[in-house]
Amino acid sequence: MTTAPTDTTDSAAFEASLQRFVGLEIGVVAVAPDEVNVPMVRHWCEAMGDTNPVYLDTSSAEASVHGGLVAPPTMLQAWVMRPFGQGRDESESNPYSELTKAVESHGFTSVVATNCEQTYDRYLRPGDQLTMRTVIDSVSGEKTTGLGTGHFITTRQDYFDGAGERVGSMLFRILKFRPAPKPAPAAPKPLRPRPSLTFDHLFWFEGLKQGKLLIQRCAECGVLRHPAAPMCRECRSIVWDTVEAGGRGRIHSFVVVHYPQIPSFEYPNQVVLVDLDEGVRVVANTVDTNADQLVIGAAVQLEVRMCDDDLSLPFFKVVQS
Ligand code: ZN
Repeated sequence: MTTAPTDTTDSAAFEASLQRFVGLEIGVVAVAPDEVNVPMVRHWCEAMGDTNPVYLDTSSAEASVHGGLVAPPTMLQAWVMRPFGQGRDESESNPYSELTKAVESHGFTSVVATNCEQTYDRYLRPGDQLTMRTVIDSVSGEKTTGLGTGHFITTRQDYFDGAGERVGSMLFRILKFRPAPKPAPAAPKPLRPRPSLTFDHLFWFEGLKQGKLLIQRCAECGVLRHPAAPMCRECRSIVWDTVEAGGRGRIHSFVVVHYPQIPSFEYPNQVVLVDLDEGVRVVANTVDTNADQLVIGAAVQLEVRMCDDDLSLPFFKVVQS
């Protein structure tokens, strides 16, 4: 990408100003809500699939070089994490927020975490009560990466035990960079894929063009079937006619497709499997339906819509039952 040329004197002054933040402490000392404890270690080991007996088997741990249970070193950060759902106070002013404002004011508004490096001074044991202090460790000069041009900002979290001894440390690095320019306007959206039409289901697509969702019916025994098929599964008759669906049904299942993205569809692409009141099951997209309305069993109403001059399809909208 290209960036606007900057005056080298201004640029040097800006870079120098960033270095004033290095070494400053961010905010208050974080205190671990719980001491190092076996239940949290157990959850961690289960989630990670770590079966090392020194973490959970007391007798094995006592017989090991540790002489007792220890916590997995990689849990370091977990002990002082904020409770779930309790976010950072964004209005709080501290050297890190000031540094962020400074780089953002120069156009480096995007962010990506790049790497994290932990150092362990000793194993933690059940009962250790940790505190953590965060300082700005370094701010790089302007660097150009595959994502764009920006500054790497590294913070260092030092973890201490109840006696004030450091037990571990973590370097966490982000890149604050200039966002890439907006892509050129997209080409016109391609049409939805065409169905390959055969005699067996041509009626279905023709019905939709007239705003009707038709269901195939065995002319001999009256059983409804969808998708269309040449023969009745009940009586083997190949004689059939159709009935028009009333348009009401319920969500049997659904999926929200994010990737891979096919240009002719909207994303996230909500796909529902609907049990029509008539007793057949239809797959379709939704209309005017939010993701949080997608619930198994929710009542839906049919809307036949024209996708383009040559294709109409059934869509479903979640409605009050
Ligand atoms: Zn039949």
